[in-house]
Formats: sequence, C-alpha cells, structure tokens
Amino acid sequence: MSKYRKNPNPIPVPTPVTKPFWDATREHRLLLQRCGKGHVFYYPRTHCPECLSVEWEWFEASGRGRLYSYTVARRAQGPEFAEDVPYIIAAITLEEGPRMTSLLVEADPDNVAIDGAVEVAWDDVSPDISMPYFRPLG
Ligand SMILES: [Zn+2]
Repeated sequence: MSKYRKNPNPIPVPTPVTKPFWDATREHRLLLQRCGKGHVFYYPRTHCPECLSVEWEWFEASGRGRLYSYTVARRAQGPEFAEDVPYIIAAITLEEGPRMTSLLVEADPDNVAIDGAVEVAWDDVSPDISMPYFRPLG
C-alpha cells in the first residue's frame, strides 16, 4: 500500500540487470554500482558509463543527497497520476555523486529549496518493490 500515491502504478518490473537494485528496495536499502576505477553510477546497467568497464560491484548508498532541480506537475502525466497532482518531480544529487530522478514527498510544492538536503523516503508500492522517493531533511 503506497504511503505517498493514491495509485502506485506503474510499478517497475525488474530485469536481470535491475533485479538486485529492486530486491534491495524491499529491505529499504538503496544500491548503487561502482566500477574498479571508482566511478559510481546510477541507473543500474551492465557497464560503467565512464570507462565502459563490466567489472563493478553493488554497494549501499547513504540515501542522502541534495535537490539539484525540480518541477511541479500540476497536470497528470497519465491516468495513474491523476489523483496525485500536484506532485514534485525531483532530480537529486546523491552524496555518492550520481543524480537520480524521483519524487520529492512530504514537501510543499510552493516552497521547495534548491540545493536543500534530502533523504530517501521509502514507499512500499507492492510486496516486492519499494520506491525510493525523497523528502526534505530537517
Ligand atoms: Zn568506470
């Protein structure tokens, strides 16, 4: 049961590449990938986007970051989002470096602070998937 959305669809369908990421969300752990040269990347993929290495590992991120940018959706992008407007689509720069697009929740759409500190706010949208949304910190 989603805490933040009236209708949590569409729910992600894991692929062989993204399955470890989504499995960890069930335990409210945010995973990123890091290659042997130390490049950290998100979204999940088969190779490092910096050096194309296929030798990388998953590691757990802090779940903290800063709001890089955002937009307020006042008109739904699809019927699944109709009951959620207005909602805040956010670009978060994670402490570890990668930028993640998500929703900013527990925030006033008319009072959002660029570069404000945020932390992950897990939303259990199905028995198998939790969405990593973000909320203002403090
Ligand atoms: Zn790399």
